[in-house]
Amino acid sequence: MPPAVSPLLQDLQAELPAACLLTDRADLITYAYDGTAAMRQLPLAVVLPLTADQIQATLGIARKHRTPVVTRGSGTGLSGGSIPVANSIVITLVRMDRILELDTRNLTLLVEAGAITQKIYEAADAAGLFYPPDPGSMKISTIGGNVAENSGGLRGLKYGVTRDYVMGMEVILADGKRCWLGSRCVKDVAGYNLRDLFIGSEGTLGIVTQVLLKLLPKPAGRQTLLASFTSMEDAAETVSQIIAARIVPCTLEFLDRKTIQCVENFTRVGLPVDAAALLLIETDGHPAAATEEAQKIEDLCHAHGASSVRRARDSAEAVQLATARRSAFSALARLKPTTILEDVTVPRSELAGMIREVALIAERWNVEIATFGHFGDGNLHPTILTNERDLEEMKRVEHAIDAIVEAALARKGTITGEHGVGLAKKQFLRRQIGDSSHQLLTLVKRSLDPDNLLNPGKIFDLPPFADHHVDAPAH
Ligand SMILES: Cc1cc2nc3c(=O)[nH]c(=O)nc-3n(C[C@H](O)[C@H](O)[C@H](O)COP(=O)(O)OP(=O)(O)OC[C@H]3O[C@@H](n4cnc5c(N)ncnc54)[C@H](O)[C@@H]3O)c2cc1C
Repeated sequence: MPPAVSPLLQDLQAELPAACLLTDRADLITYAYDGTAAMRQLPLAVVLPLTADQIQATLGIARKHRTPVVTRGSGTGLSGGSIPVANSIVITLVRMDRILELDTRNLTLLVEAGAITQKIYEAADAAGLFYPPDPGSMKISTIGGNVAENSGGLRGLKYGVTRDYVMGMEVILADGKRCWLGSRCVKDVAGYNLRDLFIGSEGTLGIVTQVLLKLLPKPAGRQTLLASFTSMEDAAETVSQIIAARIVPCTLEFLDRKTIQCVENFTRVGLPVDAAALLLIETDGHPAAATEEAQKIEDLCHAHGASSVRRARDSAEAVQLATARRSAFSALARLKPTTILEDVTVPRSELAGMIREVALIAERWNVEIATFGHFGDGNLHPTILTNERDLEEMKRVEHAIDAIVEAALARKGTITGEHGVGLAKKQFLRRQIGDSSHQLLTLVKRSLDPDNLLNPGKIFDLPPFADHHVDAPAH
């Protein structure tokens, strides 16, 4: 006899087209993971809505059955944000991926939350416009995921992060209400800034269904340089000198020796495998200005110990070099069964010391760590190569992660620069922000989602309510 269908699944089946609902174990397994190492949990069901109405209906059923909802984009998150909680419904937005409106008079783009970041970049580019945020995962990540994590990217130094390009968005709250947050105006100070509250809220406050993005004119010129250094200190000092020279490159990325060797094995683009550190630097803007800045940067690199500086001859070579940097995580992931990508950020003046300390931590706890990252932003990704099945090694890995986080906090840094808190970092959050701010976060969550329906257990754990109850659906 087939197993009895639960009342929750019966309601979902009655409300949603069959093609929008997955309940087979084999299908559910695919949604038990995201990009975070060593974390997984099977959901009860997966909903792939085509409309906001279907999301509202799913939330109504979830409230009725007191079942948590975990929103998901492409599942590339690196802090466990879209990993299901036990007995939850996953709502994945990937089928709501339309580009709704490109407004070339106001330089805005309205998209559904499941739109892939690269498609957004391409739609803007085709109109001679520019959407700058470019997370390393942009070929697969969704804009909803980018907004929920406030994702950064390789162009963050000059252009900022996702938050800087979100003018407005539609969200569905835990009680099923649909709200528009933000504005189509460049300036707008009407009321509290709820848009910014939701950006980076990691799916805990509402489900983003549409996003209105700000676009820029496309920079006409671009120069790409790759500078090799025999010492990491020289590379760090060069970064300080570039910034001190009042030059803000659009990209200033760093790879350490282990990452360089691994990326070169993977991509074969001719990286200097004997270098201790590589800087990938891009300038953009008016062609003459981009070229002048690139020349100044090249001179600064030579003056501060670069053993070689390679300038991309054409856009194909520039893309090749940027792609090599983007492949760092995938390349390192081939070395060991488990890859844990850390995401600490420190003030830029602390970078050299932080990298040195990461190396000492690796030695002390006898774990393998490769480091790369967005040097210009102070955002480092020490990447721990391990095997989650080796429990003894995993204990040492945990100590090493703790020590990396402590080292960043001791330098007035942050536990996460772009990947979010999720499940992976929640035990460190209070250490960074203190008790009062921590309590304030939970108060915001409770006022918007009193029944802790949306992505519970992410960012923080809420103590149980005295009068914890779930109302009947509100619509
Ligand atoms: C190879 C690789 C490179 C990466 N490089 C970068 C990088 O350079 N910069 C960077 O910042 N990150 C990077 N990441 C991390 C990840 O890609 C980003 O966090 C991305 O924004 C996640 O998008 P997603 O669609 O996969 O979201 P998911 O992983 O599916 O979800 C992430 C979080 O967003 C929430 N969420 C998703 N969609 C919605 C929605 N519509 N409404 C409300 N909440 C939602 C989820 O609940 C979860 O908490 C990288 C990841 C990988 C695997």
